[in-house]
Amino acid sequence: MDPAALDAADPLRCFRERFALPEGKMYLDGNSLGCLPRETPQKLANLVDREWGENLIGSWNDAGWVSAPERVGAKIARLVGAADGEVVACDSTSVNVFKALCAALSVNQGRSTILSERGNFPTDVYMMQGLETLTGGRVRSRLVDPEEVIGAIDEDTAAILLTQVHYRTGRIRDMATTTAAAHAKGALAIWDLSHSAGAIPVDLNAARADFAVGCGYKFLNGGPGAPGYIFVAERHQADAIPALSGWFGHARPFDFEDRYEPAPGITRFLAGTPPILGLAALEVGVDLMLEADMAEVRAKSIAMGSLFTALMEPLCAAHGFALASPSDPNQRGSQVSYSHPNAYPIVQALIARGVVGDFRAPDVLRFGLTPLYTSFAEIASAVDILRAVMDEGAWDRSEFHERSAVT
Ligand SMILES: *Cc1c(COP(=O)(O)O)cnc(C)c1O
Repeated sequence: MDPAALDAADPLRCFRERFALPEGKMYLDGNSLGCLPRETPQKLANLVDREWGENLIGSWNDAGWVSAPERVGAKIARLVGAADGEVVACDSTSVNVFKALCAALSVNQGRSTILSERGNFPTDVYMMQGLETLTGGRVRSRLVDPEEVIGAIDEDTAAILLTQVHYRTGRIRDMATTTAAAHAKGALAIWDLSHSAGAIPVDLNAARADFAVGCGYKFLNGGPGAPGYIFVAERHQADAIPALSGWFGHARPFDFEDRYEPAPGITRFLAGTPPILGLAALEVGVDLMLEADMAEVRAKSIAMGSLFTALMEPLCAAHGFALASPSDPNQRGSQVSYSHPNAYPIVQALIARGVVGDFRAPDVLRFGLTPLYTSFAEIASAVDILRAVMDEGAWDRSEFHERSAVT
């Protein structure tokens, strides 16, 4: 596994120059905030100067602003195995989780429990708990250990809410078998794709998924706070009642009627005026991702993960790192995580030397692998720098122990 040879043979290497990558940084955090596509600043400048600055409100019609959520949604649909008209780009992932939970409960009448796993990404679980509070306990939020989810689905389970690729460990859940197990018990399956869309091949319809949500700013490179998206399987759309029944999801928003009537298709899952600047940046990232062959993306991601874990083996023995991700690359998304008691200061020392990964409480160093712009040579350098940080004890400086608001 010679990094230079792997880079020379990499079919995706031409994508690297499509991103603005800062000099001297090895960026292994694209699973938290993806890099800036080179085309994005120009696209946004044009939107601001001409579409907004000159054409003003006319751009809602003339520049396709009004249909941007459906247009970008249809592109995301192609990345996640959904059909045109099943995905809309809007709101944050957190808000979309709430919308999907409410919609699932409206489709699966008579059941009141939402089931998830302990250690799931917090916002998903918090949204479940918020819904329980809002309904005065009529909707019940239930958490069980990860390996107990399937066995815990019962006749009151309206839906399970799971993340396909776990944010901390990168573990992949088998979407098709888990969804089938939910359906066998009369429950629906809601999937969070935040760490899977653009990272691994996703096929929502082959898995018969009912609802899904995901992030725009991670592997889709949509920029900080980019809109997320929601998928509602076509078979549920007519029965799914939008809880956030805003005017953009109305059948005829510009009739300004007193009575809410949901739009017939996926559009009913819009709430308010779409964030056009954010959607424009997201569209650039999604278009770029669509140019890549997902099988090549996955193959490179697996090869990068294998190189990383192979190079890390001596450090695990010498410095006490423990692989926190599945050791089988087929069970891992596009990240590798290690636990270490001094994970936080080690990550800060790495960042100071240009290796940008992140820390996830309580003790995890997380390294995102983004096949479109990460090279094998960078993976090898990153591990070299980690070795130096450990050998020199450079992580144990007081400044590296200070916690920032965002880790
Ligand atoms: C990143 C992430 C989110 C983020 O939600 P926001 O509303 O965009 O802050 C949600 N769920 C999962 C699983 C994530 O990894």
